[in-house]
Amino acid sequence: MDFLAVGAHADDIEISAGGTIAKLVRAGRSGVLLDLTDASMGSRGTPEDRRVEAREAASILGVPDRRNLGARDGFLSPHDSELVAKLIEVFRECRPAVVFTHPVRDRHPDHEACAALVREAVFKSGLSRFPAAGEPWRPRRVFHWMGARDGEPTFCVDVSETWQLRCDALAAYKSQFMPNPALPDTPISGQEFQEALHARARHLGSRIRARWAEGFSCEELPEVLDPCALAQREF
Ligand SMILES: [Zn+2]
Repeated sequence: MDFLAVGAHADDIEISAGGTIAKLVRAGRSGVLLDLTDASMGSRGTPEDRRVEAREAASILGVPDRRNLGARDGFLSPHDSELVAKLIEVFRECRPAVVFTHPVRDRHPDHEACAALVREAVFKSGLSRFPAAGEPWRPRRVFHWMGARDGEPTFCVDVSETWQLRCDALAAYKSQFMPNPALPDTPISGQEFQEALHARARHLGSRIRARWAEGFSCEELPEVLDPCALAQREF
């Protein structure tokens, strides 16, 4: 596999990296989407609703393989060694070069726990004596998408051509984002949240002279094989 995207909750991947995932798939890259929790704490929609929506969103992005590790929503712990072992089994099976996940600092504690779990699993997956199924495999890079407490991204991906697909995938989560007076309001259920996401993608796009962009940070410096390939647009 080229990439594995790991989100705490179904819809997290689409919110911040959906355009990039769709772009990679269009370019022929192979990947898997992995949600860690079972949506049992969601204010809107049942866990079954969320599973159906997640499958539809993944098919819109062009990734047929979407999985869920079934951890308890709202209770993700960075010290959950059983969950680390389950993550390692997925890493060793899929053998991704790149892992996308949450930023290290974010508003929802599950998001921060997910980033910490991924970090631990990425390292331990490469240890030959770690007791998990599969042959050792260490993904080469972890890229963190933007969250609610953005720092400066390390790089931006031009997602102008796949932005509409990303919006369509997000709209598949009808229980989360569609106006519905019968359901409780949440911080992400209103139009303001969508406007904020659009503003961020448009702002990041302006910084690379693209219409829409998604930003990512990484702990390690990303190596550049061809500096001239960076000079796609005039500034
Ligand atoms: Zn989330």
